[in-house]
Amino acid sequence: MMKKLLSLLCVGATVLLAACNPQFDKKTLRLEAMDTFMQCELYGVDALTVSEIRTNLQGLDEALSVTQHDGAANEIYNLNQSGSLTVSDSTAELTRQALALCADTDGALDITVLPLVEEWGFLSKNYHIPSKERLAQLLPLVGYDKVQLDGNTVTLPQGTKIDFGAVAKGYAADVSFGLLKKLGATRAILNLGGTVGAFGEKEGGKPWRVGIADPDNSAAYMGWLDCRDKIIATSGSYERYFEGDDGKIYSHILHPQTGVPVDNGILSVTIVSDNGVRSDGLSTALFVMGLEKAEAYYRSHRDFDYIILTADKKVYLTPGVAAAFTQANGYDYEVVVSSQ
Ligand code: AMP
Ligand code: MG
Repeated sequence: MMKKLLSLLCVGATVLLAACNPQFDKKTLRLEAMDTFMQCELYGVDALTVSEIRTNLQGLDEALSVTQHDGAANEIYNLNQSGSLTVSDSTAELTRQALALCADTDGALDITVLPLVEEWGFLSKNYHIPSKERLAQLLPLVGYDKVQLDGNTVTLPQGTKIDFGAVAKGYAADVSFGLLKKLGATRAILNLGGTVGAFGEKEGGKPWRVGIADPDNSAAYMGWLDCRDKIIATSGSYERYFEGDDGKIYSHILHPQTGVPVDNGILSVTIVSDNGVRSDGLSTALFVMGLEKAEAYYRSHRDFDYIILTADKKVYLTPGVAAAFTQANGYDYEVVVSSQ
């Protein structure tokens, strides 16, 4: 009897210890930032860490927004207005990384597309199809190589404007991963409006399962990807688009060299890598490149994986994610594993 009582007490004490230890405690963080809804589950962190991550995400939202103009914190808005600004270390770092990726993708990613984004109405939601003459006026303002970065000072020619929309959520994931590491988190799953940070792995050594949206119904998943310690970003034509007077669908991903929304048979590009700016930036860039160039870009880099869905119902996978991807019941995309 006494033995039984003792062992019960021991079990009770272990459970109590576990409950008191923040390592066993799940914390949820929800916020609206970067024009989207973010939700994170964090393990092994205290409430202070959660609030530090929240503050950082809000700070990035303020700094990188192209529309918020409440004060000095709105760095990109102010830069776009004034043409030159000495920005924070964090914004300078993102500028450096994004410019390098623009160059490496041969301008498929171009952080100066904002004049075009505005003209098509993707900011105001007053959508319209610009005339050829109007596009010809705007295209000379676009070109990442026009951005000068000298220390932390960014300088733009008259009329050129920066839009970090294609990389901001990935950068937010990188910054959050940095904090989670520094503050000793055990695991976390961050959903930053579709850009997912899978930090560590699930309890019991299992990988995180990340849903791949169904382009026809973005509330549903056409498949899942198992992964650990990765940042997973998706660019989809279904995310933001409008139907023109001509009955055609125009999506928010623009071809920086023609100024026109990309329409190349790709429905979505998901990129999996260790770096959020890379995942997010490449999801946009490979969408712009189209399938053939995307495959060639992969073969010449190989430091990331992709899942590309096309309108002819195929799902293209790199070998690195072929085994980790499961198609959901009821979907019949033909799986094509890209050659090494
Ligand atoms: P994402 O959803 O990551 O593909 O980012 C798309 C957003 O980035 C758009 O809503 C635009 O604000 C901006 N954008 C569109 N086309 C491009 C492009 N080719 N390069 C860089 N940013 C772009
Ligand atoms: Mg992107």
